[in-house]
Amino acid sequence: MSRTLVCQDAPYQREADVVVTACEAVEGGFDVGAPDSVLYPEGGGQPSDHGAIGGVPVRDVRRDGAIVWHRASAPIPLGVHRAVVDWERRYDHMQQHTTQHLLSALALAEFDLPTTTFHLAQWDRAGSPPPCTIELAAPELSQERLDALAARVNDEIRAARVIRIRSLERDQLEAHGVRSRLLPAGLDGPIRLIEIDGLDLNTCGGTHLGNTAEAQGLVFVGLERARGRVRVSWLSGARLLRASASWSSREKLLSARLTRGADQHVAAVEQLQEAARRAEREVSAAREALGATIGRALQGSAFPLVFAAGAADAALLRSIATAALDGHDGGLVLVADDGLFLVAGPAPWVAACAPAVAAALGGRGGGRGERFQGSGADPTRLDAARAALLSC
Ligand SMILES: [Zn+2]
Repeated sequence: MSRTLVCQDAPYQREADVVVTACEAVEGGFDVGAPDSVLYPEGGGQPSDHGAIGGVPVRDVRRDGAIVWHRASAPIPLGVHRAVVDWERRYDHMQQHTTQHLLSALALAEFDLPTTTFHLAQWDRAGSPPPCTIELAAPELSQERLDALAARVNDEIRAARVIRIRSLERDQLEAHGVRSRLLPAGLDGPIRLIEIDGLDLNTCGGTHLGNTAEAQGLVFVGLERARGRVRVSWLSGARLLRASASWSSREKLLSARLTRGADQHVAAVEQLQEAARRAEREVSAAREALGATIGRALQGSAFPLVFAAGAADAALLRSIATAALDGHDGGLVLVADDGLFLVAGPAPWVAACAPAVAAALGGRGGGRGERFQGSGADPTRLDAARAALLSC
């Protein structure tokens, strides 16, 4: 086993002295090297710690052979300094990572679902907690089985099983039934293992809780198929508590707005959607009727005609034009208050006159055949549009 670090041997240690043996200026800060660290370097699916060394903020910790490199925001002199872990971030990672061990162990042992990948999403704590995800080697997974898996994980969280750090020689792994990832080539000596008492023994270099109870609980929040596997996402620990608080406050807001209890929210939203669709259909029918009425009233006018159509939208302009030109071969320009306009009539007339009318109105538009529509027209320039029609 490559030598373990303080952060691995004592995952609950929040600060320790580090011996800084190198400090190099790099783009974006300084790489501060030390042979050991209380700050966890990214690895095994677990993101690196944040924290500080000698009061200088540190983010992005990596391990390169015998040296742990800390990306610091300022140079740090060689020598001994106090390193402090951003404990809230680290503990969140320990909760999510340990939940993953428990989840993967139970998925395999009791549901015959091997885990193929794990993603520990980083949470900046200012925003909503992102779920973590694993992919399971199965083409599909029913909601009932997922619910059963969640129930089993929560059973084992409640059972408060002790979690230990162990080590075994490589040739002992099989005899101990170790659920092993692929071990890196060239790794000599004993292998570091994480044991959930009575449940799981798994090779891992990350930081974990000391007891399953500290994971607090698990709720699955997503299930999707991906590349012939299923991807499940969950919240546990502090993320679950934070999300529950926001679900609860959102539910209260919705209950107040919808004047219904939470169990009626979906039905209430469906009723609102249906009412909105009905209103949309009624508005559309009323617009058609209004357009037909205005259009018929315009039929007695002298064409070509320029008409101020008031607070009309594009659909109403089309309805007016269709009714006004029914049985006519005249031409018509409609201008709405907000600058929408429509030039309608026989195609050759539209082609000949519409660009000049648009220019006279100060608007822009386009179209082909019997309709040319646009926006940006100045509704006070109707006389200019009439003048343009006389000369087109
Ligand atoms: Zn682990």
